[in-house]
Amino acid sequence: MIPRIQDENQFKSKAISKDKAYYTDPLELLKQLDLTPQQMFFSADAAKEFRFKVPASYVDKIESGNPADPLLMQIFPVQNELKPSAAYSKDPLEEANSLCQPGLLQKYDGRALMLVTPSCAINCRYCFRRHYPYDDQGHLWGAIKKNVQLILQDPSIKEVILSGGDPLSLSNARLTELISMLELIPHIKRLRFHSRFPIVEPGRINDELLQALNNNRFQILMVLHINHAQEMGSDTQISIEKLRKNNVILLNQSVLLKGVNDNVETLRQLSELLIEHHIIPYYLHMLDKVQGSAHFEVSDNHAGRIYQQLRDALPGYMLPRLVREIAGEKSKLPV
Ligand SMILES: *Cc1c(COP(=O)(O)O)cnc(C)c1O
Ligand code: SF4
Repeated sequence: MIPRIQDENQFKSKAISKDKAYYTDPLELLKQLDLTPQQMFFSADAAKEFRFKVPASYVDKIESGNPADPLLMQIFPVQNELKPSAAYSKDPLEEANSLCQPGLLQKYDGRALMLVTPSCAINCRYCFRRHYPYDDQGHLWGAIKKNVQLILQDPSIKEVILSGGDPLSLSNARLTELISMLELIPHIKRLRFHSRFPIVEPGRINDELLQALNNNRFQILMVLHINHAQEMGSDTQISIEKLRKNNVILLNQSVLLKGVNDNVETLRQLSELLIEHHIIPYYLHMLDKVQGSAHFEVSDNHAGRIYQQLRDALPGYMLPRLVREIAGEKSKLPV
């Protein structure tokens, strides 16, 4: 059975104020959701270490009164984040080493990754960039012109990956400018966006953005970061359909997160839902071991068991690749 798609009005009883764009106060969110700080093991210090930020459209998809809601768990600052954990560091991917130039990462053949903005629409607690020294990078936008020059000088680069933060945090004007600069580089064939906006703030997929994505010679890919079927609401469905109708190739990557999606049924439902919306399940990532995220860890054994059952349950094209990123490797590695 294909699960019924969540309707955005499903949790209407919360009566979110319509003019509010973002929640930045975790306690205000709890009040809204009829939960107490004790129930959630709230930590103000954790919220200080990595800022709390959630768009109202994402809050609309959270179930009131459920401390284990899989969406709430991804964004709520808890005491466990402050527990030190030996294998967890501030820069688990050692990206500081791959930065050939502020705002540009080239770890894998044929692809260059540009960090175009430090901002995201939402702050996910397990984010591997939660300690990223963005402030040392100066103004990323200022570095972009230089990075375009570097890419111009390396004909082996066929694909530019726009990342951040979330590249769709850039204004449409800036994105249009960036795309035009990259269009002048003949060896670039593809642009890839990694974005959570279509999920967490679908209104960002506006006509001007679609025009910017469509009016260029590139093949455009967008890797969505959907971790749970409940993140898909009717607003998200509409934004995804708009992207698809504008020739954007849609892929999805999820992070395997304890208590959020670490079971076969949840992952199977997610893959079914993705295909229903013409999105190819691409990667299922093992957690990057970033300080403050150890409570989300799924062991290799558990991951392997889930994946085996998932393989039995799904057609091959619906099965994301279970991978992990290891510092210094030439690609993400299968688990
Ligand atoms: C993940 C990643 C890529 C893209 O890898 P794919 O396997 O092509 O999705 C490229 N550059 C960096 C630095 C990455 O972390
Ligand atoms: S980079 Fe991705 S995982 Fe990290 S906070 Fe932004 S949207 Fe969340």
